[in-house]
Amino acid sequence: MTLPPGKLFLVAALLFGAALVQAANPSGPSPSGNRQLAAGPAGRTPAKPIQSKFSKPKPGSAKPGHRAIAAVQKNQRTGAPATDDWTLGNDGKVIYLTFDDGPQPVFTPKVLAVLARHRAKATFFVLGKEAAAHPELVGATRAQGHTVGNHTWDHQMLTRLIPRRMHEEIFNGVKSKCFRPPYRDTNAAVAKVAAANHQRQVLWDVDTKDWEKPGAARIERAILHGAYPGAVVLMHDGGGNRTETVAALNRALPQLRARGYTFRALPC
Ligand SMILES: [Zn+2]
Repeated sequence: MTLPPGKLFLVAALLFGAALVQAANPSGPSPSGNRQLAAGPAGRTPAKPIQSKFSKPKPGSAKPGHRAIAAVQKNQRTGAPATDDWTLGNDGKVIYLTFDDGPQPVFTPKVLAVLARHRAKATFFVLGKEAAAHPELVGATRAQGHTVGNHTWDHQMLTRLIPRRMHEEIFNGVKSKCFRPPYRDTNAAVAKVAAANHQRQVLWDVDTKDWEKPGAARIERAILHGAYPGAVVLMHDGGGNRTETVAALNRALPQLRARGYTFRALPC
């Protein structure tokens, strides 16, 4: 579509105006994907075990449900300020796939192969300990155009650690601009240490619950039903057998692409 110069100016003015409104109201609902940012005064977000291998019974934790999304909406309401913005391209139909708890020698390569097959980029929140054991997998991940985030050294519940240990868990993770707290267990102190490590907290919008191994079909549905422009989707390449995740991803990606979505790595 070609617009005459006058209309182009009008479109540019409208876009600029929208940007101004957004800048003036950073706590308001944003279509550009700030929901997953956990910086600022959001305080403690509900923690819940999210991996089979790393799951620990947590007193008072609720049954699986929509807690992840609820937590994000709560952050939005409390006005957790975005430190900056994830940039969405084209018409905004971008999905940010994220994979936690790797690298893992069997399943990380399988996830990478599926992503390559469907021309998708993603973000891998790796454990420092696993990255140290399998640096070649981290290298392959980056070489294929994906980004890598810090998921701490050893997947502890950070808010339960003494400050020195919490600090070590975050600082000993991989070098990155992004940080994701294990079990979504975070608070102002954790956010502050992450910021001191020059890392921005990244949570998620859509929890596929692939760690529960509910069957590939259910994971696929969780991806397809949860998808919306700018959504950050949580899956796992480590922490257990991820055969179902790999199969679900392979089926979901072409369907999302048919709906007009593209898949990008977060700027980590
Ligand atoms: Zn994890």
